[in-house]
Amino acid sequence: MHTAVWHNKNSMKITVIENIASLINVERNFSRRLRQSGSELDKCSQVDDAYLIVKDDKIVSFGKMRDIDNDLSRYKESELEREDAGGGFVMSAFCDSHTHIVFPHTREKEFGERLAGMSYEQIAANGGGILNSAKSLNDISDEQIIKASLKRLNDVLRTGTGTIEIKSGYGLTSDNEIRLLRIIKELKRHTPVTIKSTFLGAHAFPAEYKNNRDYYVNIILHDMIPRVAEEKLAEYVDVFCERGFFSVGQAEKIFDEAVKYGLIPRIHANQLSHSGAIDIAIKKHCISADHLEEMTEKEILSLAASDTIATLLPGCAFFMDTHFPNAKALINAGATVALASDYNPGTSPSGNMLFMIALACIKMKMTPVQALMAATINGAAALGISDRKGSIAENKCADIIITNPMSELGYLAYSYTENVINRVMLAGKWVV
Ligand SMILES: [Zn+2]
Repeated sequence: MHTAVWHNKNSMKITVIENIASLINVERNFSRRLRQSGSELDKCSQVDDAYLIVKDDKIVSFGKMRDIDNDLSRYKESELEREDAGGGFVMSAFCDSHTHIVFPHTREKEFGERLAGMSYEQIAANGGGILNSAKSLNDISDEQIIKASLKRLNDVLRTGTGTIEIKSGYGLTSDNEIRLLRIIKELKRHTPVTIKSTFLGAHAFPAEYKNNRDYYVNIILHDMIPRVAEEKLAEYVDVFCERGFFSVGQAEKIFDEAVKYGLIPRIHANQLSHSGAIDIAIKKHCISADHLEEMTEKEILSLAASDTIATLLPGCAFFMDTHFPNAKALINAGATVALASDYNPGTSPSGNMLFMIALACIKMKMTPVQALMAATINGAAALGISDRKGSIAENKCADIIITNPMSELGYLAYSYTENVINRVMLAGKWVV
């Protein structure tokens, strides 16, 4: 590989960020608050006129600027690296818990077909969509995919993403699914962004199994899952459980088998129809049920009463010009709502979490605070890492954003085409 390898050990250092207009979502007595559900989404502690101290890769302390000298007295000046936030806000980097950014080609041609009147399902039925991506995987080298994926990772890093989940699902043969997961593993060595990996062999049915779908499910169960587990290539298993795709029964079989191998289930649920996916998500203890454009009152209530996080993907509803999930009903019912980008070549070709926050506010009527919590602490919770990431607390990972100067948090969503991210620190190192 020709790109720099990250995560090499540097000498210890202490970074002090001064003159922070507002430090957002701080946890004073950090007691492993692992998620924010329902009305807790409105509770966001801020410290105005603040400083933050980072040692190595962890947050060690923070407070009001008037107390900074006292706090710094335990360090030698020569140990300190000072950074002036210049009136910017400081907050956790975004945790984007749902993406498909390792794919062979962008699909703007289909975008044109859709604009000309073809539906997503028609495009898929004509061999387009996911199948089109899977077919073209054979025409492209690993190096080309890695290079394009690193470009996407670099782009999302610049808009504040510090942690990202990436799914396979454009292979749809055992060898190509393994190949994609190995590429995801390789990417981890070449980016400062934390990557979490998901096996999504159940993304679509390959054309040759159109009339024998259970045969493909058997390949997933008895060949793909054991191989993924043997090479430790994924932490999660996902199923696209939807009308015309994987049935509830097939999803259940895949989850049952994958759990035996230590994979944690998550699910694509109710994007196009009331598929029964929410019931399966709850029954099988999926860490997250994602999409949720179509929900009945009963489904909202049962999701809110469960441990499964409701992950909303407003970029997909925006790009496909479909209706947005009912975020307010979920929050009112007490659900844990997370926001993710669904960055993929067919239905959401953007991983810009600032834009997702803007869409959450403009199209789903979430408040800026709710949207930020959903994109940080609850995104981390949807990946099971909110004990380490997603808020400002002592001993949490120093994955933080400094914004341009702002008068209030709502500016993030209001100024929706501006990249308000000034600097990004991941694991204690400045990377933007
Ligand atoms: Zn997806």
